[in-house]
Amino acid sequence: MPAEFDGCLRLRRASFSLAAAAFFMAGAARAAPPPELILFHGRILTVDAQDSIAEGVAIRDGKIVALGTDREVLRLAGPATRRIDLHGRTATPGLIDSHAHIADGGVGELYHVDLSDASSVAEVVRRVRLRIAALKPGEWLLGDGWDEGKLSERRYVTAADLDPVSAHNPVWLTHTTGHYGAANSAALKLAKISAASEDPPAGTIDRDAARAPTGVLKESAQDAVVNLIPPPTARQQRDGILKSIEDLHREGVTAVKDPAIGQPVWDAYRELLREGKLSEHVCVLWYAGSTLASAQAALASIQRSPRPPQSLGEGRLLSCGAKIFMDGSGGARTAWMTEVWHKNSTDIDQGNFGYPSTDPGVYRQMVELFHRAGVHVGTHAVGDRAIDWVVDTYAQVLGETPTTGLRHSIIHANIPSDHALKTMAELQTRYDAGYPEAQAPFMWWIGDTYAGNFGPERALRLVPLNTYLKMGIRWGGGSDYPVTPLAARYGLWASVQRETLKGTYGAHPFGTAESVDIHSALRSYTVWGARQLFLEDRIGSLEIGKDADIAVWDRDMYTMPSAQLRNLKCTMTLFKGKVVYDSKRP
Ligand SMILES: [Zn+2]
Repeated sequence: MPAEFDGCLRLRRASFSLAAAAFFMAGAARAAPPPELILFHGRILTVDAQDSIAEGVAIRDGKIVALGTDREVLRLAGPATRRIDLHGRTATPGLIDSHAHIADGGVGELYHVDLSDASSVAEVVRRVRLRIAALKPGEWLLGDGWDEGKLSERRYVTAADLDPVSAHNPVWLTHTTGHYGAANSAALKLAKISAASEDPPAGTIDRDAARAPTGVLKESAQDAVVNLIPPPTARQQRDGILKSIEDLHREGVTAVKDPAIGQPVWDAYRELLREGKLSEHVCVLWYAGSTLASAQAALASIQRSPRPPQSLGEGRLLSCGAKIFMDGSGGARTAWMTEVWHKNSTDIDQGNFGYPSTDPGVYRQMVELFHRAGVHVGTHAVGDRAIDWVVDTYAQVLGETPTTGLRHSIIHANIPSDHALKTMAELQTRYDAGYPEAQAPFMWWIGDTYAGNFGPERALRLVPLNTYLKMGIRWGGGSDYPVTPLAARYGLWASVQRETLKGTYGAHPFGTAESVDIHSALRSYTVWGARQLFLEDRIGSLEIGKDADIAVWDRDMYTMPSAQLRNLKCTMTLFKGKVVYDSKRP
């Protein structure tokens, strides 16, 4: 740095502090300007360190300037202050989802056939037939969200089901987990998948008794089809994000970690930010692929933006780090396990222990690369064997290059071993790293499939939130939308109730020993989540100086029956002090 620049900087600092001192003295002589907005007559759950509850909150310049009793905040009002009477309703910090694919999910909502509530194979086929009628021959038909656990036949959708209604169009129907999907024969043909095809590395071509492909492709075997599908246009990408933001506001969610993005999604976020339309805190993870070369490319993209907690647009957009996949899914039985997968709860899926989706040695080098560059890593790991490898890798790189505060995370962490739990606790204490980003709603939305695949014993260890609490392990809550629905209230409810959607293997195949109370559940969707987005100085609790991100609810989540939590209704959402959703003005 040239000497003049350094000198100039010092001079400017000196004059700034003089000006600041003058302002401070003037400020002390006059009262602070009145707040622009006051919410009063509420029950405001601040989720601060004491879990304190206030009646009113005053807001100026998008930030909280006072909290307290109605009298304390209302006396700050000036003639132009807007007042909102909460009529005794409960407010919380805007909720935070530490894992939601809002950009991709929004595109799916707008442009693909929704299969998330289809209850039979016939219904899936009916929806495909209706949409295909509007397509030209050769155009792709895309659908999302099916789950065999919700279909009355309790089996996969196959090419044989789809072919009679889709002779002239390739079809690709993504499973709700995103780890597998169903192609029709036209799509298989375009992808050159036949009975002669070998399974690709880290992928599975599902086959019938005669070894012919059924149309279901798992993990990397999906790529042969997916790579042929035209990507969304820039316009569609942008509209997808806007659609998701609107839905998030309706549910009181004001901050999200969007994992596994690439350049087009980043560009769409940047454009919305420039246009003043990004009314949400979004922290992204760049998809790092499964090779060292792809990791280096992701690192270059990450390093083009300021490092968190620095952000673009005052905390609206952060380039948070890298996402790597260690294994597959508990839905596809591709997650990497120490014990064999089950089927239908007690049947054995002979010889199937799942598999790593990234070569474990390469994975370790990828993490080293990011860690040494001071970049946060989030690794998808569902199976116990995958989770062990991930936490041991984090322990190794942190031992070699000790750095605190990178908050490397274990995304999903569905079934951590005792060793993994102990390692997470140690990493959190020593390095501020090793955080599970957990999805309680898996137990509900894909819970019937999950219970069948994990089997009765292991199911009890799934999403062990109470063990986390007892061991002092903090976690971020999340939906993994569009894997489960977007609303965070489902996660609050599932953290407490641990119930499956259909009860195929009983209402509580995951037991209730790992349930937590609503206070802890809310922390995982507020203050603890904020840390995983590197935004804990701005959001996560309602305290003076923080952004006025506030959700108002129809009921008090601390006192209502916990079985009702999933039916909570958000009545108003504020983002940085602006009302971005009001149920009275839909
Ligand atoms: Zn995900």
